[in-house]
Amino acid sequence: MVKSGIIFLLSLIVLSGCGASTPADTVPSASPTPGTQTSAPGTQSPAPPSPGQDESNEQPGGGDNEAGDEGDGSLGEAEGGRVTPEAVPVDTDPHSVTVMVNKEYGLPEDYAPTDLVYPDVRFTFSEKIEKRMLRQEAADALEVLFAAAEQDGIYLAGVSAYRSHSTQAALFKRYVDRDGEEKAKTYSAVPGHSEHETGLAIDVTSSDGSCAVQDCFGGTPEALWLAEHAHEHGFIIRYPEGKEHITGYQYEPWHLRYVGIELATELQANDWTLEEYYGVVPVSN
Ligand SMILES: [Zn+2]
Repeated sequence: MVKSGIIFLLSLIVLSGCGASTPADTVPSASPTPGTQTSAPGTQSPAPPSPGQDESNEQPGGGDNEAGDEGDGSLGEAEGGRVTPEAVPVDTDPHSVTVMVNKEYGLPEDYAPTDLVYPDVRFTFSEKIEKRMLRQEAADALEVLFAAAEQDGIYLAGVSAYRSHSTQAALFKRYVDRDGEEKAKTYSAVPGHSEHETGLAIDVTSSDGSCAVQDCFGGTPEALWLAEHAHEHGFIIRYPEGKEHITGYQYEPWHLRYVGIELATELQANDWTLEEYYGVVPVSN
């Protein structure tokens, strides 16, 4: 009882965009501290849940988003009823396609993918710039995904993919200068904690570019197709609807994360997020 009360409270904090915490949490950590306290007592300010979250990227650098916070911790791990696989160690290897990156788990500060390429798919812009890149394996898979979608009459376009650590840092700083750190964290990821820095994530939209990185993308034929088929090509909808309290992010039907076909299929079959798979959050129901 008490425990579930605590979990509930934590969920509220997370949903409120709690990112607000001390600047210390920006520490790039490849290895998170076990049992990190998510509670940040007293920090939860009723932050507006979604101001333009996520990568706004239409502009250079795109906003980023993903502010997930995840409160994780190991609080609920031992909870009965947990149906995620036991003993799956959290993958913190930045080179791995199954690496965990969220508000708690960050990339090493000096990490940069070494196999970035330009996937041969449609984007909402024509320049060959950083945000058009993905790691080779993810790029290959994306080309297959786009082709499969077209077979079904679904025409997608990439909006924003890779983002370097320095780009994320500049972006985050811009938001902090504008809104203050506490607020910035509610809609932008601290440098080192955006999945876009892995070279394995991409925001997509419909080929006409409408609703790019906006809530109105949800429910479109493109979004529905992705929800049903992305896993067949190794991608997952990283921030699904209804899992906000687990991922720490609002529903982002456009944010795809490559994890490989095997894991993507397992996650899809069990309706798990990466957090649930690795058991790093209390699964409260
Ligand atoms: Zn994204």
